[in-house]
Amino acid sequence: MATLLYTHPVCLEHDTGDYHPECADRLKAILAALEGEEFGALLREEAPQAKREHLLRAHVEHHVDHVFAVVPPAGEHYHIDPDTLLSAQSGDAALRAAGAVVAAVDAVAAKQARNAFCAVRPPGHHAERDAAMGFCLFNNAAIGALHARDAHGYKRVAVIDFDVHHGNGTQHILWDEPGTFYASTHQEHAYPNTGLAAETGGQGRMVNVPLPAGSGSDQFRQVWDDIIIHALRQFQPDFVFISAGFDAHAQDPLAHLRLKVSDFKWATERLLDVAREFADNRVVSVLEGGYDLPALAASTREHVRALMEY
Ligand SMILES: [Zn+2]
Repeated sequence: MATLLYTHPVCLEHDTGDYHPECADRLKAILAALEGEEFGALLREEAPQAKREHLLRAHVEHHVDHVFAVVPPAGEHYHIDPDTLLSAQSGDAALRAAGAVVAAVDAVAAKQARNAFCAVRPPGHHAERDAAMGFCLFNNAAIGALHARDAHGYKRVAVIDFDVHHGNGTQHILWDEPGTFYASTHQEHAYPNTGLAAETGGQGRMVNVPLPAGSGSDQFRQVWDDIIIHALRQFQPDFVFISAGFDAHAQDPLAHLRLKVSDFKWATERLLDVAREFADNRVVSVLEGGYDLPALAASTREHVRALMEY
């Protein structure tokens, strides 16, 4: 079975202005990197719009309404939070980003594909149940995880997040959701200053592993083997989601971990191991951060290569 690639042209029209790190060029670089012959076997699909009911599994009504209410006219921007801008197409782009993950869950559950990568923006993992934050409007990964649980009946859905920033939003949304698991490695004392090891969740299980600035491949792989993968195996997930941010790469301008391209392939393969053992290979990955364009493109290429080859 093949790997699905979901994206949508409107994700390139979510315009964050001239100097914003979370820019359309990120997605252009990724899509260009996935054009070569070796990616010819990808099943390429246009992301549908998420429905309101999908968003409301993860967000309160007033947040969903607020996002669409502040979409500005063409040519203007609206700051929904100090870091997070909307332009005229942002509402549609946010619906496509969440809709990609929902559609990917449906396709993987139906065995139309083995796994899927959602090359979408805006990203999602900082968006909390009731707030946009940190470049994120809706929490794509949490929406997908709750869709897998509530629409398909999966009992143990796991979201693993290797973005260099803690996914405070995913943790906030899943904290008290039974049958969910969230694990994150991230740079300690970095934005958004959540994700302490002591944050272990309520009915949802949270595993947080902050890494000191300057940590590289060795430290990363050790905590993944000893803590992240160990805890995930104990959870025995029946559906695995990846919040795939590539800003822990050494070249990234927004943070100070020192991962290499090969670490992202390694981490992806470790998650695929667990998915093979417990989840009949079901994996849906969604793009989060990554702001050095060459590193982002090369890291995403290795990530997708792992999804396809495994
Ligand atoms: Zn990030």
